[in-house]
Amino acid sequence: MSLYEEQFKNYLKNNDLKYTNERKELLKAITILKDHFHVEDIYQQVRKQKSDVSLATVYRTIPILIESGLITETLSEGDKIVYEKIYNEPRHDHMVCLNCGKIMEFSCPGMEKLQKNICREHSFIPVEHRLELRGYCRNCWKNIKQKINNGKYNQELK
Ligand SMILES: [Zn+2]
Ligand SMILES: [Zn+2]
Repeated sequence: MSLYEEQFKNYLKNNDLKYTNERKELLKAITILKDHFHVEDIYQQVRKQKSDVSLATVYRTIPILIESGLITETLSEGDKIVYEKIYNEPRHDHMVCLNCGKIMEFSCPGMEKLQKNICREHSFIPVEHRLELRGYCRNCWKNIKQKINNGKYNQELK
């Protein structure tokens, strides 16, 4: 049994929930998915597994997956929520490109330490922290700069 499955089963047992076939298929999908994913990606993955779990079930199971500590809502792109696995994964924050939507991860131990100190100073117990930098990735910024230099950017704006 994988660590994920063990964690999930323990959570279900402690909350008097059954380890149904549908939940098993969803857990399998989550295990396979990498990096950052949407509800649709989970749904596509269960379809690939030849399982007939409905989209409604996927939506209904997401809170259970979050509660069990396997995944988290990591950021939102417009009205779409992006999820990622957190169980046994190293802590990290995100940089999001406003142009192409690329999500980059980074971690900064110095910042973590700083946060701990700030919380201690204010006698605050942190439960969750999210840091999201929004801007332009190298490629997009290169294109934008080129457009500005060619005077194309102004033309497009007119
Ligand atoms: Zn980009
Ligand atoms: Zn991430």
